[in-house]
This record gives sequence, C-alpha cells and structure tokens, in this order.
Amino acid sequence: MWARLCELMVDLNAPLPCSVAFNKNSGVVEPATSHYTKRLSALRGLFLDADALERRISGEGDPVCYENYAFNQNTAEGDLFFGTTIIYAGKVGLEYHLTRGHYHSKRNRAETYQAVSGHGLVLFQREDGATRVAKLEPGMITYIPPHWAHRSINTSDEPLVFIWTCPVDAGNDYAVLGAMELVVLDRNGSPSVEKRLEALGR
Ligand code: ZN
Repeated sequence: MWARLCELMVDLNAPLPCSVAFNKNSGVVEPATSHYTKRLSALRGLFLDADALERRISGEGDPVCYENYAFNQNTAEGDLFFGTTIIYAGKVGLEYHLTRGHYHSKRNRAETYQAVSGHGLVLFQREDGATRVAKLEPGMITYIPPHWAHRSINTSDEPLVFIWTCPVDAGNDYAVLGAMELVVLDRNGSPSVEKRLEALGR
C-alpha cells in the first residue's frame, strides 16, 4: 500500500486523465496541442492531374484541402497521441481530395481511424509493393497495421471528419511515400479505385 502511494506521488508530473472535446461536424478539437492546415499547393506531385491542380491553386486562391488537430501531453514511448483530420470535399480533375499520406517513422507502430462525419476510403501501400483499400465511414473503425503507409480520401460531398489514435512515438515519414500506387477517381459519379499508371492511360 505504502509503495503504491509512493509510486503515485513520484508520478505527479505524469499526464493526468482527462476528456477532450471535439466537434463531429467541424472536427475542431478543444483544447488541441497542435493544429495545421494543408493547402493544395503543399500537395504538388501527389495528384494525377498536375495541370488541374495548378488551375485550382491559381483560380481559387490555393484552397485548404485538409486540417489536422492533435492532442498529446507526453512524448514518452507507451503513450498515445490522438486527434482529428478534416478533409474538405473537392476534386483535382477527377481525383478526390486526399491527405499527403505517410509511413510511420517507426514502421512497427499501428494506428486506428474512426470516421464521425462524411465518408471516404483509406489507401494502403507496403514497401514490398502490396496495396489495399479500406472504408472510412461512421460506424466503422479502420485498422492501420504496422508497416503500411496510409492516405485518406474524401469521396463524399461534405467534410470527412475522422479521429485517429496512434502511439505518440510513431512519427511520420512523408519523404519515402510520394505518389501512391492507387488513386481514387470520380467515374460517372462513383468512386473508382485504380492503379496510377492505368488511370493515366485512360
Ligand atoms: Zn499514421
């Protein structure tokens, strides 16, 4: 009993339990410990149609593609990191708005996504070339296993808001990924998952 009390006393600087508010329609986390906004100009090289991207950047004043709110109180191994991502509805040419996507710097770190409004897809890619697709919809929890790069796509006509939770030391490795093998295009009003090279040839 005394040992347990001592342990609690020396841990007083450790993070304390809490609940953090978020808005399921706007995705705003309050209070967040970090927040960033990603505009289309920051996503050059990722979309299939580079000319369509430049037309939207110059014609619409470089619109916001997505935002991210994060909450964490600690960076020690074993702790969690969570927050929201909001992908605004829109397309570049035929291709739906997407996030930059990443591997985790520590490749063996997993993650979960849980959509709360809007709907879309998660594209996956592994360093051996394997690819997968999973739904990102309210009522579902998307599992991102270790070693899989992941990119989210908003295929709806409203903001796609999802909660992500991962180990705080996972880290984001953006440089390795670049353009992914799979793309999601609007083909006659429906999302179509296609291979990049085949889609370029259509
Ligand atoms: Zn991740």
